Amino acid sequence: MFKKYPNDVLAANDFNVKIRQGEFVYVIGPSGAGKSTFIKMMYREERPTSGEIKVNDYELQKIKNSEIPFLRRELGIVFQDFKLLPKLTIFENIAYALQVIEKDSETVTARVNYVLDLVGLKDKVNAFPNELSGGEQQRISIARAIANKPEVVIADEPTGNLDPDTAAGIMEILERINGEGTTVVMATHNSQIVDQYKHRVLEIEGGKIVRDQTEGGFFQDE
Ligand code: ADP
Ligand code: ADP
Repeated sequence: MFKKYPNDVLAANDFNVKIRQGEFVYVIGPSGAGKSTFIKMMYREERPTSGEIKVNDYELQKIKNSEIPFLRRELGIVFQDFKLLPKLTIFENIAYALQVIEKDSETVTARVNYVLDLVGLKDKVNAFPNELSGGEQQRISIARAIANKPEVVIADEPTGNLDPDTAAGIMEILERINGEGTTVVMATHNSQIVDQYKHRVLEIEGGKIVRDQTEGGFFQDE
């Protein structure tokens, strides 16, 4: 699979990767390597220039724009900058993600409470995003991402703006979700995390996959 941007930057040069259900995969590499492009192609924010991408049962190079929302409902997407809606409470932020798939209000409330409990922030249900710390906002964004019970969680630098303790808290949540069978694909610069919580490492450099290692460290020789 190849991805060339209109400015001729080759952000994915001959990618050939298979990620199995239940895996935890780190996507690492220097800034500009192509990590975000890879992540964005998984949820069809970017399209490959040639080749195929299959996520769950969607052949992303073939699906129509109208099918994208259905694809994304099966994915939980976590961003470095959280992307919570500032005018909605925490309850509403999570419920909003659920209501697009038309659940009754009792189911929605139960599910919101369940995922808030999972990330340890039940007491923040009526708060607004700007009343929470960065780490708390990221836990909320993970709660929102998993509210629909996605098979795959995709995270682009989820610990990017967080201090080490807070980042560890985020990892504990992702580990738990992964332990329950959810696939996790996470782009990161955080060498400490990659070395501490060992998983498959996919290293990208200049748009090429230069390493694909089971239980790898951040650096090749670890
Ligand atoms: P990373 O996430 O590893 O920092 P990116 O996937 O963001 O890398 O970028 C890979 C390369 O593609 C970089 O050279 C970047 O400048 C380029 N790039 C990313 N997005 C675009 C875009 N929308 N248009 C043109 N070039 C882009
Ligand atoms: P990230 O790496 O988290 O995607 P960036 O700051 O690299 O964040 O990119 C922000 C936005 O700008 C993204 O939508 C990306 O696709 C786009 N972008 C990145 N690099 C380029 C580039 N060289 N030319 C045009 N757009 C770019």
